[in-house]
Amino acid sequence: MGLKVCKFGGTSVANAVQLRKVQAIVQSDPDRRLVVISAPGKRDDHDQKITDLLYLCHKHAQQEIPFDDVFERIEQRFDQIVRELGLSLDLQPQLAQIKQNIASGQTADYAASRGEYLNAQILAALLGYHFVDAAQLMFFDVTGQVDSQRTYAAIRDRLTEAGHAVVPGFYGTDSEGQIKTFTRGGSDVSGALVAASLQTKVYENWTDVPGLLMADPRIIENPRKIDRLTYRELRELAYMGATVLHDAAIFPVRDAGVPVNIRNTNQPNESGTLIVSELEPVSRTGTITGVAGQTEFTVIALEKALMNTQIGFGRCVLSVLERYGISFEHLPSGIDTMSIVIEDRQLDGKLDDVLESLRKEVEPDAIEVFPSMALIATVGRGMTHTPGMASTLFGALATAGINVRMIDQGSSELNIIVGVEADDFQNAVRAIYHAFVE
Ligand code: ASP
Repeated sequence: MGLKVCKFGGTSVANAVQLRKVQAIVQSDPDRRLVVISAPGKRDDHDQKITDLLYLCHKHAQQEIPFDDVFERIEQRFDQIVRELGLSLDLQPQLAQIKQNIASGQTADYAASRGEYLNAQILAALLGYHFVDAAQLMFFDVTGQVDSQRTYAAIRDRLTEAGHAVVPGFYGTDSEGQIKTFTRGGSDVSGALVAASLQTKVYENWTDVPGLLMADPRIIENPRKIDRLTYRELRELAYMGATVLHDAAIFPVRDAGVPVNIRNTNQPNESGTLIVSELEPVSRTGTITGVAGQTEFTVIALEKALMNTQIGFGRCVLSVLERYGISFEHLPSGIDTMSIVIEDRQLDGKLDDVLESLRKEVEPDAIEVFPSMALIATVGRGMTHTPGMASTLFGALATAGINVRMIDQGSSELNIIVGVEADDFQNAVRAIYHAFVE
């Protein structure tokens, strides 16, 4: 026995059929007493998320374009869900009020948050749980960051008192008492804050995938699922792209020592992926946990004789980046060389100015730019203290005829990052995956 927080994502609550699945999942375990829910998401590839429709209403209202049609689609979806679930809930007065509020200048955050707000009321009615508004639980400070102290205290107070509750995800209240949302996909963060405040046994994150996969299924056919991994490994796998879990959701639960279980609403009997802080001693020595990569990096390579003895060289380079508001990804260096690996979108339109400033302020002997690079992170706690992992990895890349342009092994030995030409990216991921996974 113990308390479990379950968060259900947009596709898990997109219509009455999905909400019935949610009901069955919650009711199959008496520990599932706190539920955080998204707005109805897409029912199929051609559908639109309620959140997107709400943003659209707000945009139209701002431009003084009538938005009755769009709002009617929202009303119809909620109406259909309530009807098909056979609930005696009348959302019409609230919908009318929301429409009027949007028309009379309420913020985009307010508009977007209403999908979660209404859907949570529907699920609360279906489960017979209390509805607790997130505006009373999640608080942001003047800088727009989560006010953890206030949030944790409110969650402890109100949700302990409620016992069984459904909470809308995605939003809270800002320092001026207005509704404020997290960034997109932010219901994950709401769920994490509830789980962390109450130090629950687990944070179940129910979605529409079987869990985290060892590699991108668009590159590797049927990659294996990751059964267990640590928060650190998950961070190192951040290049996985469209991640299953919102980045900001990891930290509250990690700090509170609450494991996250990624589960599939459509296959509730599958165990999914478990993310934990510390694992039992690694029994999978010599294995990897996953391979993740991303294209669209640029490398700026600087060369300067006696760079290693010049005090402040690195600071000078980094201050140029800072001035242009650019964050760097990696900074591999040699005796007389330093390479700066930067995501292309960071450099957007700034490359020439950055090069000019570097030339003036750092006075390098040479400066070279390598566009179209890809980074691939091979990650796994099973790699630590295991001789031969790098040899297997580089052997596989060599056999595939791939030239490695950059190498970076984290000091934790948890990852090896290689830089290759973007054209070699997919082949490199395949070579690495198949070198470790048969
Ligand atoms: N409904 C919001 C979105 O579409 C938040 C969420 O689902 O997590 O981004």
